[in-house]
Amino acid sequence: MTEGLRQTLTVEAPSKQYKITIDKKWIDRDFFKALAVNRKIVMITDENVYACYRELLEGFDVFVITAGESSKCMASYSDIQSYLIEHHLTRSDAVVAFGGGVVGDLAGFVAATYMRGIGFIQVPTTLLAMVDSSVGGKVAINHSVGKNILGAFYQPDAVYMDTAFLETLPDAEFACGMAEIIKYGLIRDEALFALLADLPVKAVREQIASIIARCCAIKAEVVAADEEDRGLRQILNFGHTVGHAVESFYHYKTYTHGHGVAIGMAIKAKLAMNNGIIDPVQYRLIVETIKKFNLPIAIDEPEQMPEVLKEVIHDKKAEGDVFKLIELETIGSVKIAAYTYDALVAMLA
Ligand code: ADP
Ligand code: ZN
Repeated sequence: MTEGLRQTLTVEAPSKQYKITIDKKWIDRDFFKALAVNRKIVMITDENVYACYRELLEGFDVFVITAGESSKCMASYSDIQSYLIEHHLTRSDAVVAFGGGVVGDLAGFVAATYMRGIGFIQVPTTLLAMVDSSVGGKVAINHSVGKNILGAFYQPDAVYMDTAFLETLPDAEFACGMAEIIKYGLIRDEALFALLADLPVKAVREQIASIIARCCAIKAEVVAADEEDRGLRQILNFGHTVGHAVESFYHYKTYTHGHGVAIGMAIKAKLAMNNGIIDPVQYRLIVETIKKFNLPIAIDEPEQMPEVLKEVIHDKKAEGDVFKLIELETIGSVKIAAYTYDALVAMLA
């Protein structure tokens, strides 16, 4: 086991305290064996991750799901529960999520509900899961009426991140994670944003472990203050309301989550410029930074945007015409603002 610059953080969520450990090239077979001392573990992964890391997982009880969002469903949930029953898992055993956000959300919801909650360990393998979904305890599956309809707040016992896993991650998936990283800079960390704006992409990749650690520290702070998403945690949705509108308007086929968030952030930057909150130089810096990481700043047919934004009204269950958006206050800070659809469209014109 080689050790780089190992970083650890503690998440002090009201329901549970746990550690996040980040390093490069440290998770090997012995690591997984150590997790299974004095208890059973079942690993959940998807077919792509399994194809890349089959040798690492050999000899463990592994449940492999089909890759993709469609696996966050009742059928996979039920199949995994049956697998745990067949393998006689008890409350003192654990489920290990080894994969991206899909695996983490599904495995977490299984762990939260199997015998009213068993051990749950996150080993995220995508950049997006490392900086976002593996930390904070939101676990869920989808229903035909919408995403994440059936879920829980169920914090993991620990989160172990090995940035070596990112070496096999497709570039498009890496870009998705970068969208969330830029988000953390914009909402809470001006110095992080400056680093992303200044450094060449290659240098960002070389420093990814410490960048992940900064994002996790922000997420940990926010989750500690508002575990169940009643207040502060909403700042993590910066760019997401518009982003979800873009994703859903195109039926989740044309734009990935990262694309949606990137477009949402670019629109918020434009809104802030048009409101006189940031100046044109700051606006350019934000959109150039988004573009640098291979992310879009607008949809391909910008004339469709007013139509796309109508989705926001559905998404927000708007009180009357007014809905809340997270708005830039400056680079590194946001506030909650209220908009009507008409005002939003007019401000963006
Ligand atoms: P998320 O972006 O929310 O983490 P997924 O769980 O769907 O989403 O993962 C994105 C895609 O990347 C999936 O196709 C998954 O199989 C694949 N994947 C996850 N981790 C790796 C990895 N380390 N190497 C290669 N492919 C991976
Ligand atoms: Zn997101």
